[in-house]
Amino acid sequence: MTRTPITPGQVARHLRQQGELGGNPVFLGDLSAEEALLLVVGGRDKEISSKDPGTGADGVGTPPGSVLPDYEALRSEALACSRCNLAQTRTNVVFSDGNPSARLVVVGEAPGAEEDRTGRAFVGRAGKLLDLLLGTIGMARESSAYICNVLKCRPPGNRNPLPGEMEVCSPFLRRQIELIVPEAILALGAVSGQFLTGKGLPLGQLRGEVYSYGGAPVVVTYHPAALLRNPGWTQATWDDLQLLRQVLDGA
Ligand code: SF4
Repeated sequence: MTRTPITPGQVARHLRQQGELGGNPVFLGDLSAEEALLLVVGGRDKEISSKDPGTGADGVGTPPGSVLPDYEALRSEALACSRCNLAQTRTNVVFSDGNPSARLVVVGEAPGAEEDRTGRAFVGRAGKLLDLLLGTIGMARESSAYICNVLKCRPPGNRNPLPGEMEVCSPFLRRQIELIVPEAILALGAVSGQFLTGKGLPLGQLRGEVYSYGGAPVVVTYHPAALLRNPGWTQATWDDLQLLRQVLDGA
């Protein structure tokens, strides 16, 4: 299939339309889409805030009224959890960020160093890129997305989660999704994609399909941290987000 390359103009138009950059126009000139995305992410830290103004210090906002007691109980249980060895090396349990009433749940792999330090999911450059990518489909972290990881505690040295850690921690994620009842789930990276699809395939083979987890459709794409290292994957990520947009639109 012939793909139409995305243009800087398309990126700029989407960003301006969604108002994700505080209303200030962004001039992208003749840059490639990858350069444009990375330039914007790298240079506008103040404008692209990952902080949810409606949340507390750990980034957890107001959950839906009917599930509030269950949600708060689950969150409290996770924050005190010591079911696996990661409890001994973590600084903070990273339960979530964004809106627990959101239409979209975004699932990454595990907290990184900055998330472990702050207790917030997807902060730093990868978090800002995620905000930017979600903005291109009109999904703001503060209102439309709930962001979490398969593992709630950081594996030392950012190693991949171990199967035993995923087994004991994943019930938290399952319950989060049960309580939120999202219209769609976006899996970021191979670990999240494999967990949510139940398929042990490389990420490149997981992309482009719509799966199901807990009754919600699942789309898989690259982790923003990987995208920062490999800007040539921007087109593929863009395509995945358009698929997600179609799922959210009920197409
Ligand atoms: S990673 Fe999950 S199971 Fe392990 S201590 Fe943290 S919250 Fe508990």
